[in-house]
Amino acid sequence: MTVTCCIDNHAHQVLDVELASAASRPAGLVQAVCGHVIAAAAMVAPDGPPCALCTAVMDVRQPRDRRHG
Ligand SMILES: [Zn+2]
Repeated sequence: MTVTCCIDNHAHQVLDVELASAASRPAGLVQAVCGHVIAAAAMVAPDGPPCALCTAVMDVRQPRDRRHG
């Protein structure tokens, strides 16, 4: 899922497992796939433009079995 950071106002990609583990942390910080650490308060912020680095990382992580044709 995407989480918008209140610092850079970009929508970062965060893995479900990261969100689950972040819930048990006192600070409630989650780390995006690009390495950016996001404050949980950003959950209520409106969606910002997608983080280019996150988009690139997620694209690489995708299994390359979805081809046109
Ligand atoms: Zn990012």
